[in-house]
Amino acid sequence: MAEYLQLLIDGAWIEGAASVRPLRNPATGEEIARIRDADATQVDEAVMAAQRAFHQTNWATDTALRVQVLRKLADALETAADEFAHLETQNTGKPLRESELDVADSVSCFRYYADLIASKEPWQKDMWDGSKSVVVYEPVGVCGLIVPWNFPLLLGVWKLAPALAAGNTVVFKPAELTPLTALKLGTLAHASGVPNGVFNIVLGDGQVGEEIVRHPDVDKISFTGGAKTGKHIYAACAEGLKRISLELGGKSPLLVFDDVDIDISVDIALFGAFFNQGQVCVASSRLLVHEAIYKEFTEKFRRRATGLKLGDPFHPTTELGPVVSVEHLENINRFIRNAQCAGATLLCGGKVKADIGPLFLEPTVFVDVRQDMEIVQEEVFGPVITIQPFAEEADAIRLANDTKYGLAAGVITNHLARAERIARSLRAGTVWLNGYHTPHVEAPWGGFKQSGIGRELGPEGLIGFMEPKHMNIHP
Ligand code: NAD
Repeated sequence: MAEYLQLLIDGAWIEGAASVRPLRNPATGEEIARIRDADATQVDEAVMAAQRAFHQTNWATDTALRVQVLRKLADALETAADEFAHLETQNTGKPLRESELDVADSVSCFRYYADLIASKEPWQKDMWDGSKSVVVYEPVGVCGLIVPWNFPLLLGVWKLAPALAAGNTVVFKPAELTPLTALKLGTLAHASGVPNGVFNIVLGDGQVGEEIVRHPDVDKISFTGGAKTGKHIYAACAEGLKRISLELGGKSPLLVFDDVDIDISVDIALFGAFFNQGQVCVASSRLLVHEAIYKEFTEKFRRRATGLKLGDPFHPTTELGPVVSVEHLENINRFIRNAQCAGATLLCGGKVKADIGPLFLEPTVFVDVRQDMEIVQEEVFGPVITIQPFAEEADAIRLANDTKYGLAAGVITNHLARAERIARSLRAGTVWLNGYHTPHVEAPWGGFKQSGIGRELGPEGLIGFMEPKHMNIHP
């Protein structure tokens, strides 16, 4: 009998009151747990618990306590790293070594924000009129943290660590498909000294998310997910003028110039395109390749993509696991069919490897695409990419920026001055030069244009969970 997952409200584990649904391992289809989602009353109880904890405990005001607890939590997570990586792979289907990286990055994130808050001093200055100004940074209050399924632990921690470090209390909603690591983190957080009510977890789908967003006592929403959902949430937050940060989708270009080692650039591009089965907001889903090397690059890329090893995500040599769900596969397949109907050429992939399992989709590459095609403009969020040639640097920049998104981009060239010049012309929140995908906890992460509002990680990620207060003191 599969285990029932519970909600975490005010430090207690509680059974959800809404309907029951199974949770499946996408690699095997096996039922791994059952969930009763939260109902509206339970969301309200979670928000009320967070509000009480904000006002009635010393969490918001005692920086030393928060630093100590977050460091303890980081240590506990590091100790339990294998268990967390295992759960993440079982729940998402991503290769185990990718889950291991996610856990290690999550540990670093808790440590980074514990250190940052420990060293944060008020800003002060003597003013021209003889007064003194002091700016202190206070927590926003109750924060609703809503995350997607592609990096359930890591993206959760990117919100949770700065929100808690800043002194907020939170209602956390994992994606409906991938709650396992968040729930385990709830247990560790309480064992590490997080007071009851500071970190609440409610389970459920978009309706539960909507109840958090619309709750009048939630002060800030931090959301990562699709652009359509993000826009809807943005509008809903306007009503209460809630603080908001949005980390949304992307259609990121990777520009490959003709002065590079083609094999190395193929390696970088493969990693950019197919890491986590391409279910990555910053995936390099549009490869723009200089026409002088286009033919050779494309052929080498096709050979390498076709040879990638799909299989059991727990096996150490597996390079790609399954996509996350049947519904998501259907979405991806619709993009593939539409691209073919629109006249794009399928260079490789496009089929499910049914001998491995029903959700194992081959790495899929389209060429001969037009800039206005759906496959070039819309986020697929799967192992499906396009390759386009360009002639001049200016063409590459124009194609790269011709998107409503602006999350990330990459440039591969041996000419570093050119790389930096191009990076400055690209309208994207992160630009990798001669590499791809690595987030750095000390540096901001987020989108230009319709890829979002605000930034996570770095000092910006902490400030987003704080309200600056100016005290102007006249002697
Ligand atoms: P999604 O928007 O469907 O769901 C994300 C989360 O929002 C889930 O927890 C879901 O239950 C919840 N949700 C859905 N409707 C809601 C509503 N009306 N109100 C409140 N919450 C609601 O996205 P997804 O399919 O889970 O994730 C894929 C998307 O996430 C992609 O577009 C991807 O690019 C984006 N993403 C962005 C980043 C980033 O850092 N910018 C990182 C990862 C994923």
